[in-house]
Amino acid sequence: MTSKPHSTEPKSRPVTRTLRVRLYPGNAANGLYLEQLAGACRFAWNRVLAEHQTAYRMWRSFGKLGLGPGSPTFFTLGKRFTKLRNAPGNEWLHDYSHAIVKYACKYMADAYAAFFDPDRPDHGCPQFKAKYYTEPGFTIPSNVRIGDGSLYIPKRGWMRLGPLRRYADCKPLTVRCKQESERRQPTWYAYITFEVPVGHPDVCPPAGHGAVGVDRNVGQATDSTGAVHSMLETTVEDAKIKRYQRRMARQQKGSKRRRGTGGKLRKLNRKQARRRDTTTHQISRKIADTAHTVVLEDLDTKSMTKSAKGTVENPGRNVKAKSGLNRAILASGWGQLEQKLTYKAGQVVKVDPAYTSQACSRCGHTAKSNRPSQAVFACGACGFQANADHNAAVNILARAGLPHGPVQAHVPGASARGGAIPPWPAARSAKGTPMSREPELGRESP
Ligand SMILES: [Zn+2]
Repeated sequence: MTSKPHSTEPKSRPVTRTLRVRLYPGNAANGLYLEQLAGACRFAWNRVLAEHQTAYRMWRSFGKLGLGPGSPTFFTLGKRFTKLRNAPGNEWLHDYSHAIVKYACKYMADAYAAFFDPDRPDHGCPQFKAKYYTEPGFTIPSNVRIGDGSLYIPKRGWMRLGPLRRYADCKPLTVRCKQESERRQPTWYAYITFEVPVGHPDVCPPAGHGAVGVDRNVGQATDSTGAVHSMLETTVEDAKIKRYQRRMARQQKGSKRRRGTGGKLRKLNRKQARRRDTTTHQISRKIADTAHTVVLEDLDTKSMTKSAKGTVENPGRNVKAKSGLNRAILASGWGQLEQKLTYKAGQVVKVDPAYTSQACSRCGHTAKSNRPSQAVFACGACGFQANADHNAAVNILARAGLPHGPVQAHVPGASARGGAIPPWPAARSAKGTPMSREPELGRESP
């Protein structure tokens, strides 16, 4: 309760938005070229990674070879790649755009930076990429040319895009092309990141006034108007994914059947990610339409989802229960909801989460006994009774100490989705779904 609420800065700079559209190679030769280009990126990643690891080992053993510990940069890795490209035997790399293939080194530099980042302890060292277990993809990092419904692939030519339903007049910054399908029916998608100026008609403006508090719980989020936003239910898919993972573990490495299982597994994971993306987009849009300012708890999702296993000397308690909760927290997409709210809402304020679920939103009395059950809040001092999540959301809103009034807060028993939330504008649903603001640089790589 001591930390001051902090908020995102107001928006005056142009924003970036990413759209996912189909990319049609047009003929088999073009499709093959795209796969080969992605293969060249994978080749660059693997070779540069191997060279870097060797150089690092040399430094560890002998020192003074110009390479120290710490994170390599895009510049140093890129130089390594340029050398590799000009080496004898690698002439075939000249069939592909230098900038595109070199960009694999950018992802590697990002992966190394994350690996050395003390705030991201679970991020491992960059790994080699196996042909059949990596989604083929590449990035056009600059000089993106889009015209007449087509995308220009450097050193190859124009390829048709699916309909661009938004941002058609905006400047494209980067494009990430990915093959998202089984190899038998290759389907390519382009993730186009646009620079969108302030006040562009395709960007929905946030609600003009008001504030709303949101309590994010396992499986659902409740806002201070009383509306309950259900998160995604993925138990059926989770079970399927587990089954395929077990099957894959039994299959022989390098076998055709294992490869097939890998494809099915990737397909399921993609589907789940898509569903989660859609759900968090819908929820964040509804919340951003409700009020200008959104108040959230400053949850450290990473430390909350850390394993409860503990150490050998000091074994953790409730390991099983905690791991189940971890999965549920991750599945509920809290981080994604917050990330989407930061660019959809007018302002996001984060407050200290301590005791928001135990304090009375009417008189401020804070006690564990205020919660007779998981769902019910009943104040021991003033007798106020409410839905526990709703009470917490009202507390979260109050904690921000905002000058302007809340949106219909303190309405006892305000039911979900009643009059509190304005109807979804019809025009918006006809347009394409905008993807998250940034292409996840560093996470995905060719
Ligand atoms: Zn009370």
